[in-house]
Amino acid sequence: MTHKIDQSIIRNQNRAHILKAFRANQIIQKKDLVEHLNLSITTVTTITKQLLDEGLIEMVGFSESTGGRKPLVFQFIKDASVAFGVDISPHTMHIIMVNLCSEIIDQEKMTYEDTPIEDLLESLKGMIHAMLKKHQYTMDRCLGVGLSLPGIVDSDQKQLIHAPNLNTHVYDFQSFSQMLGCEVFVENEANVAAFAELILGDARAVDHAVFVSISEGVGCGIISDHKVVKGTYHKAGEFGHMRVSSAPHTCRCGRSGCWELYASESALLNAYRQHSDNPKLELDDFFAAYEKDEHEVQGILKAYLEDLMVGVENIMLGLDPQVIIIGGKIISRLRHAVPDLNVLLKERHHTIFSAENKVMFSQMSPFSALVGSSLLPLKEMFGF
Ligand SMILES: [Zn+2]
Repeated sequence: MTHKIDQSIIRNQNRAHILKAFRANQIIQKKDLVEHLNLSITTVTTITKQLLDEGLIEMVGFSESTGGRKPLVFQFIKDASVAFGVDISPHTMHIIMVNLCSEIIDQEKMTYEDTPIEDLLESLKGMIHAMLKKHQYTMDRCLGVGLSLPGIVDSDQKQLIHAPNLNTHVYDFQSFSQMLGCEVFVENEANVAAFAELILGDARAVDHAVFVSISEGVGCGIISDHKVVKGTYHKAGEFGHMRVSSAPHTCRCGRSGCWELYASESALLNAYRQHSDNPKLELDDFFAAYEKDEHEVQGILKAYLEDLMVGVENIMLGLDPQVIIIGGKIISRLRHAVPDLNVLLKERHHTIFSAENKVMFSQMSPFSALVGSSLLPLKEMFGF
């Protein structure tokens, strides 16, 4: 029995390795699969035949022979199936439909206020069905829907455990999967963003990294040994709620002194509104004032960066990752205003950190979580 299980795991791994090679290269000679993936000719022949039968690859001819039979050449049919990624945040829902190479086929965004999650999912169902119909796909060609959620998530049980920002607490997505007629995958926003950085972004070439997602709150995804670490009770990476101050301000978690009270997008906006004595100002106003070189605004950003770096330091000291990637919704504006964050890090405690410890802005943000959610349905197929 054990032998049978082991064989099927190996077969699935070999199939995933071959599909991953097709995803990366699109057109591949059969002999290259044998040589580069270190697989037997029999294994490659069996799996490529399956993939041909399933309509995932097609034969596109023969390459030049260097003697003997001409090598077969296959092409990946990247539009054979699709997957959906959905980033659900407190006020917006962004959805993308991607092909097997993660190319975006279509996308849509909706905004809302105080909408119950059941109503949001009803809207999402309509958007998914409409997109499939528009691009002439049937549901059996949809590998699934990945959801990025701003809260504590049990991805194995498909449950949202705690999400005060979403107007809901415990929510079971099994019923949404049945209602939709395809598999649904759920993951915490910071974890799924870290996953996107690991597969396609700035963490591809490193073994240990931490993704810090800055939006209304602060969440983190930990990458260790090239895997996203979720902890025993799905709460790993909740650095947004580590205490960095004894000030009595209350956090949405019910405690006080949490890092996100100082490092979140809301923290920067609140500081600006308080300074200007105008509760209607937005972050666009802040960065417009910053561009105009207004002295007080420069001071607010400097103080914010100081608080941001306190948490970055603590994470660096606790986990010693090769890189801390700062991402989230604020980044597209922050990266234009802020110099190299490594300078700020080294200025603070240059003797503690090694020269190799780096901090950087995510190149994929603000879309890391969205891209990551679309990778969830592809995870098993490509062995990510
Ligand atoms: Zn807190």
